[in-house]
Amino acid sequence: MNCTKCVGKMVERKGSTPEGIEYAYFKCRKCGEEIVDMKQLHSVAQKYREMKKYTAKISKWGESFAVRIPKELVKQYKLKQNEDVTLVPEKKGIKIVA
Ligand SMILES: [Zn+2]
Repeated sequence: MNCTKCVGKMVERKGSTPEGIEYAYFKCRKCGEEIVDMKQLHSVAQKYREMKKYTAKISKWGESFAVRIPKELVKQYKLKQNEDVTLVPEKKGIKIVA
């Protein structure tokens, strides 16, 4: 792939949005021009869609808080009712390990 401005060689780079979504783009080695092709754009859009699908509201459940897990994730990870999961506190959030 060559730069549309200077016809220099373009290399694929990785970046991430403020939401933490990783994406790929091409950057010209010569003039620094950055472009995103359709495939890369599509991939970012897809990630945004998935993220929206995976948002959950915290609700109160007695003295604790509960998070509703979307059915797509229930299916994907074959979660079962009353199953014990482990909550792993991490820097950016809490990881659920089934
Ligand atoms: Zn260029």
